[in-house]
Amino acid sequence: MTCCVDFHTHSTASDGQLSPADLVLRARDKGVRYLALTDHDTTAGIAEARAAADRSGLDLIPGVEVSVTWENQCLHIVGVGIDPQHPPLIAALDSVQQLRIARASEMGRRLEKKGIIGAFEGASELAGKGMITRTHFAKYLVNRNHCSTIQKAFDQYLGRGKAGFVQTRWLDFDQGIGLIMAAGGTAIIAHPRRYDLTATRMRKLLGDFRAAGGRAIEVVCGNSNREDIRDSARHAQEFGFLGSVGSDFHSPDAPWIEIGRLKPLPDSVEPVWKALGIPLNSVVA
Ligand code: AMP
Ligand code: MN
Ligand code: MN
Ligand code: MN
Repeated sequence: MTCCVDFHTHSTASDGQLSPADLVLRARDKGVRYLALTDHDTTAGIAEARAAADRSGLDLIPGVEVSVTWENQCLHIVGVGIDPQHPPLIAALDSVQQLRIARASEMGRRLEKKGIIGAFEGASELAGKGMITRTHFAKYLVNRNHCSTIQKAFDQYLGRGKAGFVQTRWLDFDQGIGLIMAAGGTAIIAHPRRYDLTATRMRKLLGDFRAAGGRAIEVVCGNSNREDIRDSARHAQEFGFLGSVGSDFHSPDAPWIEIGRLKPLPDSVEPVWKALGIPLNSVVA
């Protein structure tokens, strides 16, 4: 099902495969009308995406996906409708970039102990000017035939507890949400079903998120099934959150997640785009 809103996508500014301009073109071709670019811990792709959107007749919503630490766990908070040049936000994201480089260097050292040479340099080259992520390491491992697929690279080397995994202290949860709000944005909990939280911890998270100023939850993700959507819609209602829809598109090479291909938001959930003043009652399916 194609949807005219996609509020969660990645470009080469972080670990996406397409440049911001090419991402916008693909979104347009897939029928997306309102696109948020939400790269990991950076807004560097937004100027290019906005210029492409202006040429293509779709609306670019400036966004970011901030990595935060909540109770020793890494979570992702999507911010939409932000000022991508807001100085406190930029300063904090610059510090995360330094953190990511130091982490990547340590990942390279750990992988070297497992006989994998040159992973930091290789991943850095793949990242180019973009924010370096584990995805770049996964691609390096596949390119060098250490693993046959990206998924296996995470399963064998990069996932939590594996040899190349480096425990990282990301931005503080409240600080990350506060930065999004200070930059004029709306904070959304990204892919809530992906964190493997018990029901009790999920409720704790949702309560903490609301207390910190969070306003929305991603109810529909690119890989959501009906149960995921039902569960998140219930949480949205119970905690008074708006609902977002976002594919988390990264690459045309992973066709099971396509930009704009999203199930509709349930009627019981108030869409987050209302908070942004976007005059859409429902998603055109
Ligand atoms: P990082 O923020 O550097 O820890 O990298 C996280 C990124 O790695 C996520 O945004 C995903 O794009 C990707 N990722 C994480 N786990 C997996 C997985 N199991 N398979 C494929 N990609 C993954
Ligand atoms: Mn990613
Ligand atoms: Mn994420
Ligand atoms: Mn994402």
